[in-house]
Amino acid sequence: MANEVYNFNAGPAVLPKEVMIKAQEEFVNYHGCGYGVVEESHRAPLFDEIIQSAEANLRKLMDISDDYEVLFLQGGASLQFAMIPMNLAIPGKKIGFCDTGEWSHKALKEAKILGNDIDMIYDGSANGFKTIGNAASWKVDPQDAYVHICVNNTIFGTEYQSYPETGDIPLIADMSSDIMSRTFDMNKFALVFAGAQKNMGPAGVTLVVIRKDLAERCPETVPTMLRFSTHIKAKSLFNTPNTFGIYIIRLVSEWMLAQGGVPAIQKKNEEKAAKLYAAIDNSGFFRGTCDKADRSKMNVCFRIGDGNEELEKKFVAEAKAAGLVGLKGHRAVGGLRASIYNAMPLSGVETLISFMNEFARKNG
Ligand SMILES: *Cc1c(COP(=O)(O)O)cnc(C)c1O
Repeated sequence: MANEVYNFNAGPAVLPKEVMIKAQEEFVNYHGCGYGVVEESHRAPLFDEIIQSAEANLRKLMDISDDYEVLFLQGGASLQFAMIPMNLAIPGKKIGFCDTGEWSHKALKEAKILGNDIDMIYDGSANGFKTIGNAASWKVDPQDAYVHICVNNTIFGTEYQSYPETGDIPLIADMSSDIMSRTFDMNKFALVFAGAQKNMGPAGVTLVVIRKDLAERCPETVPTMLRFSTHIKAKSLFNTPNTFGIYIIRLVSEWMLAQGGVPAIQKKNEEKAAKLYAAIDNSGFFRGTCDKADRSKMNVCFRIGDGNEELEKKFVAEAKAAGLVGLKGHRAVGGLRASIYNAMPLSGVETLISFMNEFARKNG
């Protein structure tokens, strides 16, 4: 095994080394209190300070105004697929869906299970989810209860470059795999959610940013734990939250602010992605799987030739031996995928590129 390991897993995924070290240092004895955060009550002042500063950091990083609540929930992004329609569907109205891959499709399925009619705004299945196109030009039914999009498609490797124009219709975005990787205008969205385990922290926390007026929509029949209003009232402490996960989000958000915030991180992400895609495009050996215009800067999906599975297997194994782990594509699509989230240093991408060039030379 190489000394330095670079982790390209899609999620759970790489976290900043500085954060991992700090968490290790503080794990047994947090700030000299004699025990660890995981041993503390979620109602104690010690944890109160942690959750409040995590929220304050996220508000700063994403420029979230007082019109929005910031919630730390559980159940993953996947529970949001159900919780959002439970709270925000309107009887007799359709829910608008833009299907750009596996995760938007799963959300669509949950909305259907709950008996909602769907306004299919965009269906990417016809082109194998390789492209998104000009989302700003999509036609949205002005009667929709809300519109759901997934802005970065972790599995297929595409990313929205523009957003649908929904006017007064609430626009809801799954940002699980690119949250805080690039700037965006929160005020365009009524609700944004993200599982923490791609770009923010460990698995087990879901960030939900919701415009306050929306939380009032919820019908009486929704159980207490599944209502946004419950968690808003209780400030994410209705029941025991994932205290450790929220603590790591605090550390990661602190790290992000120290890096110069989202714009500075976005610049680094653009550089990493540009270098990696250029290496793919110039190789004559590897091939990117998505339309260039819509390529994700977080999840770089590629193949060897037209999909040489044997060589891809060899690539994954040899890369792992060289300290480059997690490069296998998602089981639904195969191929190769390098997830280069915020915490992946440029040196990791450069090491991967050197390995790729060498592999292409030997096997081309
Ligand atoms: C990983 C992922 C999910 C699923 O997240 P869970 O927390 O496992 O439910 C949903 N949406 C996107 C875009 C993802 O990348």
